[in-house]
Amino acid sequence: MIAKKEEKEIRTRYAPSPTGPFHIGGARTALFNYLFSKKNNGKFILRIEDTDKERSKREFETQLMGNLKWMGMNWDEGPEMSGPHDPYRQSERNGIYKKYLEKLIEEGHAYHCFCSKEDVESQKQYLMSIGEAPIYNGKCRDLDKETVEKYLKEGKRSVIRFKAPFGEKIVFDDLIRGKIEVDSSTIGDFVIAKDFDNYLYNFTCVVDDIDMQINYVIRGEDHIPNTPKQILLIKAMGFDVPRYAHLSLILGADRKKMSKRDGKTSIDEYIEAGYLPEALINFIAFLGWNPGTEKEIYTMEELIHDFSLEKIQKSGAIFNIDKLDWVNGLYIRKMPIKELTERCLPYLKKAGLISEEISSPFIEKAISLYQERLKKLSEIVELVDIFFKEDLGYEKDLLKWKTMEDKDVVASLEKSYELVLGAEEYTKQNLEKIFLAEAEKMENRGNLLWPLRVSLTGKKSSAGPIELMEALGKEETLKRIKKAIQKYA
Ligand code: GLU
Repeated sequence: MIAKKEEKEIRTRYAPSPTGPFHIGGARTALFNYLFSKKNNGKFILRIEDTDKERSKREFETQLMGNLKWMGMNWDEGPEMSGPHDPYRQSERNGIYKKYLEKLIEEGHAYHCFCSKEDVESQKQYLMSIGEAPIYNGKCRDLDKETVEKYLKEGKRSVIRFKAPFGEKIVFDDLIRGKIEVDSSTIGDFVIAKDFDNYLYNFTCVVDDIDMQINYVIRGEDHIPNTPKQILLIKAMGFDVPRYAHLSLILGADRKKMSKRDGKTSIDEYIEAGYLPEALINFIAFLGWNPGTEKEIYTMEELIHDFSLEKIQKSGAIFNIDKLDWVNGLYIRKMPIKELTERCLPYLKKAGLISEEISSPFIEKAISLYQERLKKLSEIVELVDIFFKEDLGYEKDLLKWKTMEDKDVVASLEKSYELVLGAEEYTKQNLEKIFLAEAEKMENRGNLLWPLRVSLTGKKSSAGPIELMEALGKEETLKRIKKAIQKYA
């Protein structure tokens, strides 16, 4: 599907309304637009749809742009860079909308409607009560020019409606869902602007898609009801209709619309939990897209290479957080330890375990003990905290393995102390040799290794005692064993 030279450049857009935190559903829409445009050597445009002045917030916009960059989805055109279709924020495009709106009115495709909200509402109620589609009755549709001018001069309040045709079939071939057909009579004359300063979504979206030369519109299926209206508008303005692809909903394990119950919804929450952008991208790509092969791990480059709209499923995509944890763990395991350490440092700092985000062989060693079992970076804090703490704060009974009594624990720890002290070569291999030989002499290996491990960590579970001793160093190991013995004094 690589675009040939003579074909039109493929231009997709992600057009979020910054009215809340950037979430998984939005990220998936952005990703599929990004992948499709990159696959076809096209352009990916970011457009901020902030016409809802009350609900749109700059902070959400900033957050979503940061999140997109974090995931590696860089846009070719968008706000805060200059582009051929500036500005890319709807709140800054009123001049452009005005021109298109004036033209629609001039050509008789749109008109001023002076009906009060109450009248329109009661008319709709009536239509519903007799089982008909609740559309506007068209009262102001054919007002003559003089009357309109007179009303406007008098300052009568009006909205601007689009003249939707009656009895026409609106058909579009959705690239995911196939042919969709709607009878235009069910649409009615819909409002496109409150006035020449306040435009509504279907109108601004269409003007921008035309103006920015978007030829593929990939978005959530919740927008399907808008598509016929947008097609009518585009045709009235005399432009080509783009191709549409509507993505199915993301569902939770219970097959209902995904919610907080199923996992974190905002991208910031995923970042905070310590998911890697590579893993998140990989996971999001599979929310509705299936390459039809066994391959489960994709880099962004590979996704671009293998992506196609044909392989997007029609049915809802099931969100399974365990799968994300699995992918994340996989990426963590294959990461060079230096890099993993760098990525863990901010979490250690935030938890107060280190004062500066500076790596050291000691930190690296501590982290390496847990690389195999780490699923999210944030988990590193609870795993390695013991390396940074003076007081491990555990109950002395935790040192007891099975039926051990106080005196047995003390004897075991004293043995360990003696072995560590006598270990001339303080390496993992040598410690392993010494301790395993000693443990063999005992009835149960746990009698030696459990108290030792707890003395080093104060925890029920952790990495093994040999690795821990090596990572802590001889001096610190001896100090910790001694402290444990003192608990029985
Ligand atoms: N601004 C719309 C939204 O956030 C998207 C519009 C579109 O993709 O056409 O839902």
